[in-house]
Amino acid sequence: MDAEADSLLVACPSCDLLYDVSGLHNGEKASCARCGEFLTRVRADGFVKLQSYAIAGLVCLVIGCSFPFLSFESSGLESVMTLPQTTQQLYDQGRPDLALLVAGFIICIPGVVLALLLLLSTCIVRGKFYEWMVPVTRLVFHMQGWAMVEVFFIGVLVSLVKIGHMATVVMGISFWGYGAFALLFISSVGCLDRVQYWSELDRLAGVSRAR
Ligand SMILES: [Zn+2]
Repeated sequence: MDAEADSLLVACPSCDLLYDVSGLHNGEKASCARCGEFLTRVRADGFVKLQSYAIAGLVCLVIGCSFPFLSFESSGLESVMTLPQTTQQLYDQGRPDLALLVAGFIICIPGVVLALLLLLSTCIVRGKFYEWMVPVTRLVFHMQGWAMVEVFFIGVLVSLVKIGHMATVVMGISFWGYGAFALLFISSVGCLDRVQYWSELDRLAGVSRAR
């Protein structure tokens, strides 16, 4: 019965073959023998890393929203724009729907996801379990697919190449801040191993019930 209780069964997301990944040690990963799909990886410091990436990412997001993002100069005219002003411009041009989507996908959703990841990872690192962690975790896993941080940043880089022929473009502090935020956001989500996460949450819930 103990062996059964200690097993950690995972179904391959591609072919549904069932595996017991409870025997993995720190640094080891499991992939499906049938189709090669990645299943899980054990990282002893995974939650501390997640916490660090989330804190650094939130700081970079604040920097990304607070200073000039890009400035353009052409024929003696200079225009400076911050990240929130880009969505404000869309709103002013009669596109409130687009302004809402852009603000949601590049600032609000990734910011909320990182803030919730920071909250959850802090609880886990401190060995705490609360009932609300389960629905909040589900919400984070659902929301992370709607954050388009890297898509936006790649779009900016591509448009810079085109605009560079017409005007002098200077990248501001926020440009680099948002670039760092994009990398940290990707790193945070990359740290988030669903199998290990739910397994740790189950363990903490068990400890909490046993008290
Ligand atoms: Zn498979």
